[in-house]
Amino acid sequence: MKLILFGPPGAGKGTQAARIEARYNLAHLSTGDMLRAAVRAGTSVGLQAKEIMDAGRLVPDDVTVGVVKDRIERDDCHDGFVLDGFPRTFSQAKALDAMLHEKGTRIDAVVFIDVDDDVLVERILKRAAESPGGPRADDNEATLRARLAVYREHTKPVLPFYEGQGIVHHVDGMAPIDAVSTTIFGVLDPLR
Ligand code: AMP
Repeated sequence: MKLILFGPPGAGKGTQAARIEARYNLAHLSTGDMLRAAVRAGTSVGLQAKEIMDAGRLVPDDVTVGVVKDRIERDDCHDGFVLDGFPRTFSQAKALDAMLHEKGTRIDAVVFIDVDDDVLVERILKRAAESPGGPRADDNEATLRARLAVYREHTKPVLPFYEGQGIVHHVDGMAPIDAVSTTIFGVLDPLR
C-alpha cells in the first residue's frame, strides 16, 4: 500500500502514521523528520532547510522531492509506505506522481485528517509544553500561524488533485486519537 497522510500541522499525522506503519508494516516517510535529521547532521540539505523550517515556511520543492526520491528507493519501501507531510505543494504532488509512474505504481489512498484551526493552535502549544527534549524550534504560536497560512495557501489546494482520482478519504481529526485510528483502519483494511 502506498499512502499519503494529508492534513494541517498539528492534525496528528505523525501519531497516526506511526500506527499505520505498525499495523500494515509500511515504511513511515516523514519529510519533516528527514529534514530535522539533516539539520542535526549538518548536511547541505540541513543547512539549506534550517532557517526556512524555523520560520514555518516551505523548504524548496527540489530539496524535498530529492529527499523523498532517494528515500523511496530503499528496500523497506518496496512493499509500501506512508508519506507524512509530503506532498505539500502541487509541484511536489506532480513530481511524486511522475516518480511513481516511472516505477509502474501509484498512490492507493490519501487519508485527509481535518481539524479546525483553533484546535490546532491549542494542540501544538500543548505539544511544545510537554515535549521531553524541549519544544521543536517551530512549535510556537507565531510559527504555527505561519505554517497554517502556508498550509491554506499551498498545501490544501493540492487535495483536489487527488480528489479527481477518487482516492481521498476524509477523517474527522477532532475525534479522540484512538477513534481516529479506528476510522483510518476501517478505510485502509479493505485496501490491503
Ligand atoms: P512537519 O514535521 O511535517 O510539520 O514539517 C516541519 C517543517 O519542515 C515544515 O514547516 C517545513 O518547513 C518543512 N517541510 C516538511 N515537509 C515539507 C515539504 N513536503 N515541503 C516543504 N517543506 C517541508
